[in-house]
Amino acid sequence: ESKLQLVHRHIRTYPDFPKKGILFRDICPILKDPATLTAVIDLFEEHVRKNHPQVDLIVGLDARGFLFGPLLAQRLGVGFVLVRKKGKLPGNTVSVEYDLEYGKAEAEIQEDAVTPGQKILLIDDLLATGGTLHAAIELMKKQQAEILGCMVIIELKELNAIDKLKPHSVFSLLQY
Ligand code: 5GP
Repeated sequence: ESKLQLVHRHIRTYPDFPKKGILFRDICPILKDPATLTAVIDLFEEHVRKNHPQVDLIVGLDARGFLFGPLLAQRLGVGFVLVRKKGKLPGNTVSVEYDLEYGKAEAEIQEDAVTPGQKILLIDDLLATGGTLHAAIELMKKQQAEILGCMVIIELKELNAIDKLKPHSVFSLLQY
């Protein structure tokens, strides 16, 4: 069994969660199985070493980006930074507002989290509409980071988020 097959086998699908009509992809089984979690980090590490060896920082999105990002950053020997939902970070912060399906949300980062010119990669578990990653990209632009790209375990292809995030690239392990 390949690493990708192993990862694929550890994603569960729940219909009508968190609301009717949504097919929710659950990554919890990945975390519960050490070999599968290792496979996820291996695959991300291979991608980064091959395509972005110059990376300075991994930037993880609240909340499931926090589960994978620090493990990857440790492998690569680089730092990890958190993009959080508003109101969670102490000190001076920078924030951007973005649209959710219903209403608005705000993503926030500590003002000194990234030094201008630092080369960053964004990580989250799943790409749906792209709204969340788009907001994080806007934050990184405000920080004058050099954005190398985005990484997710799962890309939901029918929502065409890839177009919304252009010119930034999105690397995904699995596409649904
Ligand atoms: P987007 O902003 O791209 O529409 O939604 C992506 C964000 O919502 C990610 O932070 C992701 O964790 C969460 N998300 C949306 N749908 C799913 C899903 O089916 N499974 C998981 N694990 N996360 C989801």
